[in-house]
Amino acid sequence: MNVAEAKFVKDFIRVTDDGFKKGWHERNGGNFSYRIKTEEVASIRSVLRPPEKFAPIGVSVPNLAGEYFLVTGSGKHMRNVILCPEDNLAIAVIDAKGENYSVVWGLANGGRPTSEFPTHLLNHSIKKELTHDRYRVIYHSHPANVIALTFVLPLTDKAFTRAMWEMMTECPVIFPQGIGVVPWMVPGGRDIAIATGELMKKYDVAIWAHHGIFCAGEDFDSTFGLMDTVEKSAEICVKVIAMGGKKQTITSRNFEDLACEFQIDLRKEFLD
Ligand code: 13P
Ligand code: ZN
Repeated sequence: MNVAEAKFVKDFIRVTDDGFKKGWHERNGGNFSYRIKTEEVASIRSVLRPPEKFAPIGVSVPNLAGEYFLVTGSGKHMRNVILCPEDNLAIAVIDAKGENYSVVWGLANGGRPTSEFPTHLLNHSIKKELTHDRYRVIYHSHPANVIALTFVLPLTDKAFTRAMWEMMTECPVIFPQGIGVVPWMVPGGRDIAIATGELMKKYDVAIWAHHGIFCAGEDFDSTFGLMDTVEKSAEICVKVIAMGGKKQTITSRNFEDLACEFQIDLRKEFLD
């Protein structure tokens, strides 16, 4: 069994390649993880190494004990994943306490999972519980327009949610619960993981000021599509600001009509 030939691995790789082509992954920018289904683990188990050296995750995720994750390697370039998955990706298993991980496949030339593994795993833990096991994908990227807006818009959940909702009519349908914003923080550790996790309890999108964006979702298509939608909305917003600002927009009343027609649960606090 060649791990790279498994359908979930091919689908994962397609996202890394599409994300690079979108311009969201300069150098080693961004990272990606997938909580592998039991039957998918079973299909590749014969080629996984036994877990040996465990390393601390940095956060505690007891509900992920025994789960397997496919994840990009730290310092690895998204554009290279498609060329050599075994060098650039890892499969890691979480120990019985939910505090350590061991790499059981991949990183053929050494290395470790992404430096943002604490944020990925804490987000997986929160979403697994909140969605009753549905959500499996966490995706971090560095899209230029989202990052640009963090220098101009107020760094509040409401300001970003309203701005992104207003730029395309379909946006409130795609992310009805809105967007959270983490102020500038040092990346790659426990503190930013906890701040992001707090937002993931409410939203599927968390923007890191002057850095990038995290999206969570049920599967590869919905998670990639969510990131693509937010970044496109941010691109329109940048153009609108560059053209001198809004002269008219979608109003709170319009959003309420949309919510009624599409039967979506728009977060009320962003409607006034
Ligand atoms: P990694 O190479 O460790 O995944 O880091 C990239 C990144 O975007 C950090 O936020
Ligand atoms: Zn980053």
